[in-house]
Amino acid sequence: MALFWPSDSTLQGFAERVIIVLMARAKKTLRCPTCRTLVLERNEDFPFCSDRCRRIDLGKWASGDYKVSAPIQDPDLLEELARSGRDKPSDDEVN
Ligand SMILES: [Zn+2]
Repeated sequence: MALFWPSDSTLQGFAERVIIVLMARAKKTLRCPTCRTLVLERNEDFPFCSDRCRRIDLGKWASGDYKVSAPIQDPDLLEELARSGRDKPSDDEVN
């Protein structure tokens, strides 16, 4: 799945975690990423067991602990992704 995401490792890690959550929802349960407690989907802090664990996890993201180091192998794909990420095509051509 790593091939479909830009090289930005934070974005890639986020995307992988979204997939994990979606898979977990299909099963209706998930272990809290912070403390490994089993969490039910109806928990308001899902996929975390508590607001405390959610905050801890967000703190890890902010400090870069979750950076994923899986490289994208295809340079053409990288270039295409970089190009498609620009909403304003005139940005670096006019200047
Ligand atoms: Zn927890």
